[in-house]
Amino acid sequence: SAKRLGRNRFCYFTHALQEAAQKRLRLSRELRQAVNQGQFEAHFQPIVELASGRIQKAEALLRWHHPERGLVGPAEFIPLAEDTGLIEGVGDWVFREAVRRARVWRDRFGTDIQVSVNMSPLQFRSEGAERVESWLYHLEEMGVRGEQIVIEITENLLLHAHDEVTRQLFRFRDAGIQIAIDDFGTGYCTLSYLKQFPIDYLKIDRSFVRNLENDPNDVALSKAIIVMAHELGLKVIAEGVETEGQRRLLSDAGCDFAQGYLFARALPAEDFEDLLNDTGRMFSIG
Ligand code: C2E
Ligand code: MG
Ligand code: MG
Ligand code: MG
Repeated sequence: SAKRLGRNRFCYFTHALQEAAQKRLRLSRELRQAVNQGQFEAHFQPIVELASGRIQKAEALLRWHHPERGLVGPAEFIPLAEDTGLIEGVGDWVFREAVRRARVWRDRFGTDIQVSVNMSPLQFRSEGAERVESWLYHLEEMGVRGEQIVIEITENLLLHAHDEVTRQLFRFRDAGIQIAIDDFGTGYCTLSYLKQFPIDYLKIDRSFVRNLENDPNDVALSKAIIVMAHELGLKVIAEGVETEGQRRLLSDAGCDFAQGYLFARALPAEDFEDLLNDTGRMFSIG
């Protein structure tokens, strides 16, 4: 009967929900261990200055070496880390790793290479003020200038920005750390925040870059973002550049920097160093 069918379906969903909850519980337990047992690794994706082809920056992108499941990407565990409060520990780890590499690469390659780190909005809670101070202290201890570090935040952090967010961002800025808006154009913000906060870079989201060669609207939007950013004294980084055609369109539109598979994927630190050595920090720009 229909009633019985409904009941079976109910059982099925309950079962599925239980399974999902258990899976999350297991994963969050494993994630807690991962922080303590050093199962994280940061990979680095080069960011290229379009006018010169020179590798000027690298974005740190987190990877998890899961003991059974192998390499797990951030999309699978960052949301969970946010839900479970583990994002603090994870974020501290990534920041320290970024600073360590920034120091090593400055010593090894002479000229400064900026290292950028992604930050979750949840890291800006009220206790965040203490974290900011401990990070700045760490920078000083490591002898790394703030100017070598970029922090990537999303527009949505600024949508409901409370005083604490503002304070922390300005504290970073005072220490020389630069701020980038990640995935620019995908949030639900008015643009007025661009003049309220100390922002240095806009990162054009991959969704605008993907169809640049076929969709004149995306070209128009990218150009508008670049013009506006420059008028405001900001630089622009395009994400997800995969083709020579996209690179050329962005370059012609005056975009400052680009990152994407056209140049390189996110690489283990050693491979990133090899890339710097092998290319002399330069990609040839056609
Ligand atoms: P995101 O910050 O926007 O990083 C860019 C993502 O696009 C990375 O994915 C990168 O590998 C990928 N990507 C770069 N170039 C290309 C390209 O040409 N084509 C395509 N299809 N993809 C490209 P990934 O490493 O999987 O990271 C996903 C997201 O996870 C990041 O997006 C960021 O929001 C978050 N994330 C990564 N590491 C951290 C971290 O340490 N802390 C926090 N809070 N979030 C992180
Ligand atoms: Mg990012
Ligand atoms: Mg991004
Ligand atoms: Mg993105």
